[in-house]
Amino acid sequence: MNSPLTKAIEKFPRVRLGHAPTPLDAAPRLGAALGIELWIKRDDCTGLAMGGNKVRQLEFPLGEAQSRDADTLLITSAVQSNYVRVAAAAGRQLGMETHIQMEERVPDVDALYRSSGNVLLDRLFGATLHSFPVGEDEPAADTSLDLLAQSLAEEGRRPYVIHLAPAHPPLGALGYVLAAEETLAQARDLDLEFDAVVCPTGSALTHAGLLVGFRALGKKVPVFGICVRRDTGSQVARVSKVAEQLASMIDRPEVFDADDVMAFDGVLASGYGRLNDAVREAIALAARQEGLLLDPVYTGKTMAGLIEHVRSGIIPAGSRVLFVHTGGLPALFAYGDRLGNWLSDVPWGEG
Ligand SMILES: *Cc1c(COP(=O)(O)O)cnc(C)c1O
Repeated sequence: MNSPLTKAIEKFPRVRLGHAPTPLDAAPRLGAALGIELWIKRDDCTGLAMGGNKVRQLEFPLGEAQSRDADTLLITSAVQSNYVRVAAAAGRQLGMETHIQMEERVPDVDALYRSSGNVLLDRLFGATLHSFPVGEDEPAADTSLDLLAQSLAEEGRRPYVIHLAPAHPPLGALGYVLAAEETLAQARDLDLEFDAVVCPTGSALTHAGLLVGFRALGKKVPVFGICVRRDTGSQVARVSKVAEQLASMIDRPEVFDADDVMAFDGVLASGYGRLNDAVREAIALAARQEGLLLDPVYTGKTMAGLIEHVRSGIIPAGSRVLFVHTGGLPALFAYGDRLGNWLSDVPWGEG
């Protein structure tokens, strides 16, 4: 691919981490159950260390880290974060140490949450784990990382900090501008036009990247972000901030339109990283209709959000929908008890 868009992105250092293009799969049985024509962009299959959207996102900050000759990565997120797991793996692939700051974002977690899934993998990669008691203060989490970086630098390390708050340029979103281009090329080969795109929206790097990417390539398709962390109002503000910065970074400021940003918090309760019945049912439905795995924190919520959009008619029955599967599967095991107990309890649980 050598579009003007790719040219604008070439000025940012990048290191290839993922397997791309990822598959674009039809999901006819799950689609029929939902009353739509469903396609899935399989970014759970990006390869590195069990994949997911963070592989595409980390190609740019890690490119910058390498261009600065860093030898140590610092990153902050939730305890069961896919971001930090992929960073720790990528660090090893590139010969770097990784320090992970784990924020307490989810209340009432059980022992599995602290030991299984991504945490197990972080430890396997030999990352240094730090805990951070606050879960909802991104600037404070970044400041704490900066302080840690300072003390590592005093010990002779060359640290690179992957910041979280949108005060910093959203380098990771560039990966999803490229994913938008990749997806459109696949759709063109299959002679497909999508009526709607549905993706999770958290840090907003995925959502803003896809939105800006599609618009920069002249595609008007609506992009429905399903909130995994914040309410609709805060999330629309977050996505807008990231998308506006991103559009300027790729020299296309005119493609950002605040009225174009949509987010839905109708399946978020009771908050980030917490299961509810709509999410459990969406996970079980995908598994049983299509043999497709979804995760409890992001893609399960996103499927529940898609189901709700079809039920309410916001996405009309019969629409051709692209569901962006962002991965996150290791967390299934960290939520294993909560999911497993529910499977035993519901009437169709063992059906
Ligand atoms: C981080 C993550 C998301 C959220 O993506 P953002 O780009 O942070 O909005 C969605 N799905 C999975 C599996 C993730 O790990």
